[in-house]
Amino acid sequence: MNEIKQKIEKLRHELRQHNYNYYVLDQAIITDYEFDLKLKELQVLEEKYPEFYDENSPTQRVGGQITKNFETVTHEHRMYSLDNSYSKDDLLDWEKRINKIVDGEIQYTCELKYDGASISLTYEEGRLIKAITRGDGYQGDNVTANVKTIRSVPLKLKGDFPLKFDIRGEIILPFEGFHKMNEERIEIGEEPYRNPRNTASGSLKLQDSAEVAKRPLECLLYNIVGTNLGIHTQYECLEKAKHWGFKVPEAAKVCRSMEEVFDYIHYWNEERHKLPYETDGVVVKVNSLRQQDELGYTAKSPRWAIAYKFKAERVSTRLNSITYQVGRTGAITPVANLEPVELSGTTVKRASLHNADQIEKLDIRVGDVVYVEKGGEIIPKVLGVDFTKRLVDSKPTTYILHCPECGTELVRQEGEAQHYCPNYNGCKPQIIGRIQHFISRKAMDIEGLGGETVALLVNEGLINNYSDLYELTVEQVIPLERMAEKSANNLIEGIANSKTIPFERVLYALGIRYVGETVAKKLARHFRSLDALAKASQEDLVHVDEIGEKIAKSVVLFFSSNENNYIIDRLRNFGVQLKISEEELVGLTDKLKGDVIVISGVFEHVSRSELKKLIEDNGGKVSSSISSKTSYIVAGTNMGPSKKEKAMKLNIQLLSENDFLKKINFLSDTD
Ligand code: AMP
Ligand code: ZN
Repeated sequence: MNEIKQKIEKLRHELRQHNYNYYVLDQAIITDYEFDLKLKELQVLEEKYPEFYDENSPTQRVGGQITKNFETVTHEHRMYSLDNSYSKDDLLDWEKRINKIVDGEIQYTCELKYDGASISLTYEEGRLIKAITRGDGYQGDNVTANVKTIRSVPLKLKGDFPLKFDIRGEIILPFEGFHKMNEERIEIGEEPYRNPRNTASGSLKLQDSAEVAKRPLECLLYNIVGTNLGIHTQYECLEKAKHWGFKVPEAAKVCRSMEEVFDYIHYWNEERHKLPYETDGVVVKVNSLRQQDELGYTAKSPRWAIAYKFKAERVSTRLNSITYQVGRTGAITPVANLEPVELSGTTVKRASLHNADQIEKLDIRVGDVVYVEKGGEIIPKVLGVDFTKRLVDSKPTTYILHCPECGTELVRQEGEAQHYCPNYNGCKPQIIGRIQHFISRKAMDIEGLGGETVALLVNEGLINNYSDLYELTVEQVIPLERMAEKSANNLIEGIANSKTIPFERVLYALGIRYVGETVAKKLARHFRSLDALAKASQEDLVHVDEIGEKIAKSVVLFFSSNENNYIIDRLRNFGVQLKISEEELVGLTDKLKGDVIVISGVFEHVSRSELKKLIEDNGGKVSSSISSKTSYIVAGTNMGPSKKEKAMKLNIQLLSENDFLKKINFLSDTD
């Protein structure tokens, strides 16, 4: 037993170190694959020996805990905000004010001001105990389960740390991860997130920590609070935090005068554009903690610190015209076409206007001089109008009523910001976009066919929906621009080869709104054929694990269209996979259909994850908590007393491991 404990501890230690190398130091020394193997090994051991459970084990990073209502917690030390300054004069005024209060020379620590969501982390004996949002400064929300999934937050500290302290920092979403998340959202027809900061703070309040785990969040630390910490300066505080395993940016610097502070600001005002995340200023802090004590706080913020806000990079330029783009899902996006202008080192010609409400709210008109800003967004945005420059004959913008591509009257659903073109089957950009999605790598992955060729094929009238692809001939495509006999042959061959793509990817390829890769997989496994899925009611659909009302409605709507059914019939006739194959079917049954099952305790024949898979493969649903909806509990040994009590109270049957495995014929009756 001791050996196992040691093995588990060793794996945890190794994984912690690799996590640290990768997420804090940005220097991986093993491959992702090797890391995954070790993590798997640990997971298996922890499942088998739950007596060695540790809520701060590296396996806990994947999340899974659901928080319905975040508990409100009072901060042991209040979280203050910062006074802002916008000019050198503001900073010189601040210097004068503090010089009146403290005697002697003052040094400053300068740091960047990271733009995200502030967080306070409590550590006791080197273990993360709590993570609380700032809230109103006095109390915030307990978001520990979600924060634990952020890999750069150490769950266990290294080195010589105080017994108990709080550490403050900012949870941020670096640009790269933000853009990637948006690409995925656009692909499944969801609206992209507006900016990294709101997305970061929104992520902290997601109910499902497994969802948070998927987001590439980071945590940058800047302040330690507590008593008897043995720290004397702000700079030392940053150094210490770094040693204990926290991610502390390298940009911090001690300055001996305001002149040096100005140099720092000047330098980072340019240099910050090279950073992988958003910063909106510099925070100047009195370095000596003794002097900080002397200075104390105003009602709202420390006297010993001040934020200097970078001037937002904004320029003004003329709005020449507004055009409207139609996306694959029919969503309309208004775009500002601008007189080209330099902004943060690039020439800007276009900016997003978001939607009709935004145009109306800002009263944006063609011919106006508008302010344009570049934040974390992919394309810059229009902030407002310089009304002093408005032309006398300017007219308010009337939002289009009809699709710019097909002329169909636009619709706008209650509660949605975007207008949509409902001409699903006749609107060119929607038709092209859908076929482009169908052939894309994660969908049918058709080799030899690219997005531009799809547009060409549609515009030439050769195809009108994705099923038409399967009727194309070499002779038809050779005359197309940039086609030769060889590429034409490859294209036709690529299309034919896609007939072996498994059903779950075909389902994703159909482009049903809100049915992304993961959802398609879920639905394919559950319904096993397109026919069964097409027959499912909204009610049936929401009973599938993780399928919500929004997805269910969208699926039902898709199959209610005659046109879609006609296209699917054609796909079927061409031999595209519309059901799970025989090989995939092995081991899959309906035996547990309709059963909602809770797993509890330790098992002898199978691991917990194997058990979960067995339940799902047999058509059952695994639920994490006991409720009146629970059909029965598969109980191993060491089932928790509170679970037992709850099961008794609700009169829910307990099934032993053996009985359950016999029920699904995993064990024979003689076993
Ligand atoms: P404000 O929200 O404008 O009052 O600014 C105060 C907030 O700036 C703090 O609550 C922190 O979340 C954030 N902040 C970002 N970077 C730093 C930093 N280096 N030092 C202190 N606060 C920071
Ligand atoms: Zn249209």
